[in-house]
Amino acid sequence: MVDFSLNDTQKAIVGLARTFGRDVLYKAEIAIDQIGNADEAAASELFWSALAQAFELGFGRMAIPEAFGGLGLDPQTTGMVWEELARWGPGFAATLMPGAVVPQLVALLAGGNKHLVDRFVRPYTEDTSGKLISAWCSSEPEVGSDGSNYDAREIHHHTMAEKKGDSYLLSGAKSDFVSNGGIANAYIIFACVDPELGIKGSGTFIVPADSKGIKKGRALDKTGLRVLNQAPVFLEEVEVPASHLLFPHGPGYPMLHNSIITVGNLAVGYLAVGLMRAAYEHALHHSKSRVQWGRPILEHQHVAKKLFECHLAIEAARAYLWKGSWLSARNFPGDLKTSLGAKIFATEMAVKHTAEMVQVLGGYGISREYPVEKYARDALLLRIMDGTNETLMNKAAKHLE
Ligand SMILES: Cc1cc2nc3c(=O)[nH]c(=O)nc-3n(C[C@H](O)[C@H](O)[C@H](O)COP(=O)(O)OP(=O)(O)OC[C@H]3O[C@@H](n4cnc5c(N)ncnc54)[C@H](O)[C@@H]3O)c2cc1C
Repeated sequence: MVDFSLNDTQKAIVGLARTFGRDVLYKAEIAIDQIGNADEAAASELFWSALAQAFELGFGRMAIPEAFGGLGLDPQTTGMVWEELARWGPGFAATLMPGAVVPQLVALLAGGNKHLVDRFVRPYTEDTSGKLISAWCSSEPEVGSDGSNYDAREIHHHTMAEKKGDSYLLSGAKSDFVSNGGIANAYIIFACVDPELGIKGSGTFIVPADSKGIKKGRALDKTGLRVLNQAPVFLEEVEVPASHLLFPHGPGYPMLHNSIITVGNLAVGYLAVGLMRAAYEHALHHSKSRVQWGRPILEHQHVAKKLFECHLAIEAARAYLWKGSWLSARNFPGDLKTSLGAKIFATEMAVKHTAEMVQVLGGYGISREYPVEKYARDALLLRIMDGTNETLMNKAAKHLE
């Protein structure tokens, strides 16, 4: 029987996320959104202090197995926490989501390698400063992160990895959109070892951010999710030991890449549900107290319809995501088509309904005095994050049966 009730662990950790979100993230998120300069926002005390508290509570290591110092939470519980954190601080949730990609992938792919675990997992799971945050660098100016063109030999990453003795030399540029690109301590970088193989010619490397030859670009000045630092990463003959090649180039590349986006897209979907809830709860509250033409606006049918349709979208999107997480728990990393479908649905709903919640607030909806316009701006980024919905749709449609 499918069970929709929360167990004790889920109640406890979602409750913790709610208290932390309401008391810490919400205020920090709204204040940072209003900082005009994106690099200044990423350097602010407010940002790092909230992030450190999130790390202290364990939100930076939720899916890492307990044996490596993580919380070892299952995909559905992790998803519930992402939703709750996003309800209060969507930009912070978007920062934390890829933030553990280095320790997570090392634990998963090289858990038996003591040297790599001591260097790239333990310090990260023990960190309470929030400074050991990571990023994954796939997209390039001409190669988006969805990686659909696995068989087109002429398309490959332009960031190149050249073998030199026991090392690789990495050179190239990753796009403006790398989440945590300007603040990360370590990167997962896809770089082409053999261009003859197209995108399958890329190896997956761990690269410490303080390596000689790494340059972080300026933070992107965005309309939404302004708390999330996004910046390009430039590499000029960055030398990494051959042991930092976490996953080799070759026929396994699509499997690894699809696994990352199967897990990642569910997280983005949960972010969209949290955002919708934030906008909905504000609009519902407003509609009960704002009187127009002699009655609270909730009693006007069109307003009630908008709110009910947003409620429907939240429930439906969450149920679809839970199915994706359930499949992921049963057989890791889960089902690609379901994850992509759940992300596409949740993010499209978020764009539509956050705009409708702005409308419910009327003229106040477009005022920065209320946070609802911010959620509508944030939602637009989710349709692009972890692959644009159009490219993800193309990819998922290949699995229709
Ligand atoms: C919030 C956010 C976070 C991100 N985080 C990361 C990250 O951490 N790491 C990372 O590597 N990347 C990241 N990205 C990049 C993202 O995953 C996309 O891959 C990238 O933004 C797509 O490239 P582009 O923006 O240049 O769009 P383009 O590829 O130029 O696309 C422009 C338009 O053309 C459409 N289009 C392109 N190709 C096709 C096609 N084949 N069929 C149909 N339509 C198509 C797109 O859907 C889009 O509407 C992030 C992006 C965002 C917005």
